[in-house]
Formats: sequence, structure tokens, C-alpha cells
Amino acid sequence: MKKKCQAVVISCMDYRFHAPLFDYLQQQGLRGQYDLVSLPGACLNHSAKHLADIVEMAVTLHRIEGSVYLCHHEDCGAYELDADLEEQMARQSEDMKEFARLVQDKFPHLTIQLCFFTLEDDEPIQIELGEDEGN
Ligand SMILES: [Zn+2]
Repeated sequence: MKKKCQAVVISCMDYRFHAPLFDYLQQQGLRGQYDLVSLPGACLNHSAKHLADIVEMAVTLHRIEGSVYLCHHEDCGAYELDADLEEQMARQSEDMKEFARLVQDKFPHLTIQLCFFTLEDDEPIQIELGEDEGN
């Protein structure tokens, strides 16, 4: 049976959470069915424009109709945040949400999943895209 590409996964390149990330994607039924983009800091805002082009390429090339996973993690070296977990998540969530909205505007048919991995748990924390807080 020919498999179809279901998702684009954008993750930080950090090796420490790739095993849990891989397991998580398996659980989502995505084994061998996703394009993977791995960059320092994932959606860290400086790479947003370039990332959007990559998502567009994946969606066009592989006719993806499922999801885009944005995967960030605790203690990210690209962010260099000297802060507790809650603050790290809040700061990174801003970039994830901003990028998610950009992708959602461009590809309304896709579901965007925001996942934040801690270094302790294998299961990511799901961040709600929610409404723009208008800041
Ligand atoms: Zn990182």
C-alpha cells in the first residue's frame, strides 16, 4: 500500500527530545508519513519567513492535507532563556503561535499542533492556539 504524506513536522534540532518526538509521532499514526524540518529553535522568529516557504514546498510537493506540528522544548539552546519552565514555554509559545497563524492563513485546510516537550516527560504539552490576545 502506498503511503501518503500526512504532516509537516517542524522541530528544534536538539537531539535530547528527538526520541520522545519520534515516539509521539508514531503514536499519532504518522510513521513514515511526515516531512521533517529540523532547525535550531524551530519557530524562533528569525526563521519564520524561510520556514513558511519550506511548509509551502512540502504542502505543494506532497499534497499534505493533515497537520503541521510545531515542536519546541525545554532548555532550548537557540533561545538561551535563563528562566523557569513556565516562562520558557510562554516565550516560545509566542513564536509558535505567530508562525501557526501565518501558516493557518496560508493553508486554512491544515490543522496546526503546537507541542512543547519537557526534558522529563515523553509526552509533549499541547499548547492551544487560541485567540490573538492583541498585544
Ligand atoms: Zn532547541
